[in-house]
Amino acid sequence: MSQTTLNSQQHPLLVALTGGIGCGKTTVLQEFSSLGIPCFVADEVAGAYYADPSFLHQVQSLLGPSVIRPDGSADKQAIAAIVFHDAGALKQLNAIVHPRVWADFQHFVDANSQAPYVIFESAITYEYGFDHLVDKVICVYLEQEERLHRLELRDHATRQQLLARMQNQLPAEEKMMRADYVILNYEGNPRTRQVQYIHRLLLVSSINRELQNLVS
Ligand code: ADP
Repeated sequence: MSQTTLNSQQHPLLVALTGGIGCGKTTVLQEFSSLGIPCFVADEVAGAYYADPSFLHQVQSLLGPSVIRPDGSADKQAIAAIVFHDAGALKQLNAIVHPRVWADFQHFVDANSQAPYVIFESAITYEYGFDHLVDKVICVYLEQEERLHRLELRDHATRQQLLARMQNQLPAEEKMMRADYVILNYEGNPRTRQVQYIHRLLLVSSINRELQNLVS
């Protein structure tokens, strides 16, 4: 990635929240948000770009005319169909989306510079190297079978469609192994307690860094 990292001395701790689709990232993020932590949802931010005509024009130049509907709006299904079958096209699309997402995240961090830490939520943190741009990574983990079960209920999608979506991501176990903190989101597991514990650890890390900056 060509983006520059933020200057750690002037910014809150940067924390990525990741995990396989359906593991409970959104649910966990709401808990951090209710603790007052600013949360940036990369997918949501990127999704909004498609309402911007100049961005859409760039996408059209990459993927062809079928990505814009006659009314001028983005045909997200057409875009998904193209990039799902063409790894090169996906890479090119990501090359225009991801730097913009990271730039928007930098503005978000600037706007929340008084927070002890901020969260960047993205399922593809490891797949696209965002882990190298943050200080810590939290992974929400749930085994595949249970994720499929929850997603069948949430998205009303078939097992086959869900498995195809999962195949585009790193195995959840690999994400868990690489993360600094793991939240096990099994039903009945005390998720809130895990969030509060990690929140306290991150507050301590943030204070430690401030102290280091003071003495250095
Ligand atoms: P993600 O954002 O990682 O795709 P979500 O947070 O949307 O996952 O969670 C997937 C589904 O599982 C949602 O319908 C959510 O309400 C449900 N869910 C999340 N955590 C739990 C849990 N601990 N027990 C039962 N269901 C859960």
